[in-house]
Amino acid sequence: MSAQPSNKIPVVEVDLNANKKRVHPRFITGFYQNIRVISMYALLALFLILPWIRYNGRQAIWFDVPSQHYYIFGMTFLTQDFYFLAVFALIAAFALFMVTVYAGRVWCGYACPQTIWTHMFQYVEKIVIGDRNKRIKFDKEPMNAKKVFKRFLIYFIWFVFSMITAMTFVSYVSGTEALYQNWQMIGFIPFPDWSTWIWVSIFIFAFSTYVNAGYMREQMCIQICPYGRFQSVMFDKDTLIVSYDYERGEPRGARKKGTHPENLGDCIDCTMCVQVCPTGIDIRDGLQVACIQCAACVDACNEVMDKVGYPRGLIRYTTERQLVEKEPSRVLRPRFFAYLTLLAVLCGGVVYALTDRVPLEIDIRRDRNQLSSLNQQGMIENSYIVKLTNKTQSAHTYKISLEPQEGLSLGVRFNDVPLEAGESFDMPVSIYGDPKVIEFGQTPITLTVTSEDGKYNVSKQNIFTTQGQ
Ligand code: SF4
Ligand code: SF4
Repeated sequence: MSAQPSNKIPVVEVDLNANKKRVHPRFITGFYQNIRVISMYALLALFLILPWIRYNGRQAIWFDVPSQHYYIFGMTFLTQDFYFLAVFALIAAFALFMVTVYAGRVWCGYACPQTIWTHMFQYVEKIVIGDRNKRIKFDKEPMNAKKVFKRFLIYFIWFVFSMITAMTFVSYVSGTEALYQNWQMIGFIPFPDWSTWIWVSIFIFAFSTYVNAGYMREQMCIQICPYGRFQSVMFDKDTLIVSYDYERGEPRGARKKGTHPENLGDCIDCTMCVQVCPTGIDIRDGLQVACIQCAACVDACNEVMDKVGYPRGLIRYTTERQLVEKEPSRVLRPRFFAYLTLLAVLCGGVVYALTDRVPLEIDIRRDRNQLSSLNQQGMIENSYIVKLTNKTQSAHTYKISLEPQEGLSLGVRFNDVPLEAGESFDMPVSIYGDPKVIEFGQTPITLTVTSEDGKYNVSKQNIFTTQGQ
């Protein structure tokens, strides 16, 4: 397929029924590939290292689902704080939209886990079999002992990578201690003593990693990932895209070294840009959903241009306005301000909510079976369960008090409640009302919980009722 010159960069529709061959990209180096490798493997290292970082004696990032406590460095979140997660997801979505409007699919090419793991798995094939031509030849070879051995070696390394990925993923939820302690020796083989949900999660994550990075690869981007499809909605004429300079390159064609026939453009039709493409497409056809904008074709073509002595940039990062309309790209445009305003509002809201947040939670539940009763001293008694949760990163002792009110007094089983960091406790509390003083019906009450140093205190209202007397 060859694109036609027009006032737009041609957009190639994806053919979902196309029977594509396995892609074996040629590995190259170059300006963008160096940035890409650094960015991808720095993110991978961060993913692997983060669960091992300790903060105040505990795993710094730990989504402890079984106990419904979620720790992010100095902050503890409970299930009822999940609205923070929703806001974080919104911030991430708007940040991605903003980046996409400007830099196109930079996320796909430089940071997406699918891209990183696919790159890693393909690199294993390169190490075991060799570069592109050897891998293509290897696929066509009949089965023999050497081929079986190399295949087995690749599958084994993929399996190890998949297990490491799955265990790291699960360690964000189970905690590293639950995962790496309590291994038993069965003969000479260490065997983990994991609960069922850990086994199931590790199997699911390891299987998904193996299949996605080992087999699905670019098909995930083309057939499944919705983000690639959104791009046509988010892109505008000023979005940065990897594009082939059709005017400069066509008509393409081979030529003798050191010559430039007048009837030919700058593209020498060497197909290097296709050979290095991790999704196996030809960027010369136009803008495509399968293009993850990794810029491997930019580096490859620049290298070719250097060799034949033509200027670099036949394939380059550009915008439709620059390439087709020959005008400078606009940086400040309405979408920028719209996304920036939304992001600023959301980030401001989160910062305010986090700084204003008291790391002490109280929840008052009434005893539904017995709203009120008359005790031996002739006082009306209401019973409550006060749930205290210490959301700080250190141990504290808390006291509970009743806002002074004529005719009402507080009865607690414990004067002081010591709680470890992240610990919760259900404290039974009674409030006594003097029937000679207290009005018949419902009276609002306020309970306050204060830490021993007075630093944290939280109040909550409930009602005292004479109902049933
Ligand atoms: S690498 Fe450059 S010169 Fe070679 S085929 Fe691609 S666009 Fe043409
Ligand atoms: S066409 Fe170029 S930028 Fe797009 S995925 Fe292929 S190599 Fe990467």
